[in-house]
Amino acid sequence: MQQPINVLLVESEPEDLEGLRKSFAEMPGVQIELEWVSELATALQRLSAGGIDAVLLNPSLPDSDGIVSFERTNAFAPDVPIIVISDLDDAELAISTVRGGAQDFLERDEATPPVLARSIRYAIERHRLLSALRGLSLIDEVTNLYNRGGFADLGEQYVKLARRSDQAITLVHVDIDRFKTINDSLGHHVGDRALRKVAEILRVTFRRSDLIARLGGDDFAVLALEATGEDAKALVERLRRQVSDSNETSKEPYQLSISVGMARYDGEGRATLEDLLDQADKAMREEKAEKRRAVER
Ligand code: GH3
Ligand code: MG
Repeated sequence: MQQPINVLLVESEPEDLEGLRKSFAEMPGVQIELEWVSELATALQRLSAGGIDAVLLNPSLPDSDGIVSFERTNAFAPDVPIIVISDLDDAELAISTVRGGAQDFLERDEATPPVLARSIRYAIERHRLLSALRGLSLIDEVTNLYNRGGFADLGEQYVKLARRSDQAITLVHVDIDRFKTINDSLGHHVGDRALRKVAEILRVTFRRSDLIARLGGDDFAVLALEATGEDAKALVERLRRQVSDSNETSKEPYQLSISVGMARYDGEGRATLEDLLDQADKAMREEKAEKRRAVER
């Protein structure tokens, strides 16, 4: 028999706790022990005592509601995977919790015992993998993107692959405009949220197979292997559109603005990741300088 999996259910009024425990007990090959607390404060207390392998969280609690419930739990116990369960079909909450690092989001109606058990097991697996990658220090803590080291390691391989296969790649360099003002006027945590927002925009703009990283501060880079028929400029256009869409729907007290630089390598001759980064960085700085001149005019 494997080790039991200790799951903490954080929910104000669970529908059928005993039924769920019974279904878990009857499942072959896995032993899931369920502990229940009804408030965020008690959940955090329980988590600090240790021994919890995964959290099932319904974020509407008597002492906390919405994304904040998730953020506080996650900040408190970053090593424990969290699965968010919600009564309502709230796409925005789903996206923001999963982007914020939740392992899964389930609507209560779909969260049958077998679905929950599967979600719990995968959540634990994925979280282990992510922690292992973090242990190799390739992942940025704030955004869960690759960090500069991860980008350098994997990016060099991308460039070699492009050279070998005569494929073009595009490096896109992104820097947030006046990010210091967001930090200084609204606080560091709002600044962190802006960084995660940019990460989210990059994830929806580029493909899963592209390499997306936060190089440091408010500096991001993407390395995209060019798909046939796809114009690198179109990629950047898509990125800018995502930013303006995001500003339209955003509830944040600031408007996000980015500067973008691009460098392309067509697979011929020698090129290093460093060269591409320098080139894209220069282009990005030119856009920034141009914006400043426009403001002064
Ligand atoms: P520009 O328009 O020229 O890009 O100016 P800027 O204000 O965006 O300034 P710059 O890009 O030079 O500054 C980056 C700032 O990012 C400086 C630093 O205080 C802040 N920063 C660096 N790391 C973090 C972080 O992890 N979280 C937050 N909230 N801020 C960070
Ligand atoms: Mg900046």
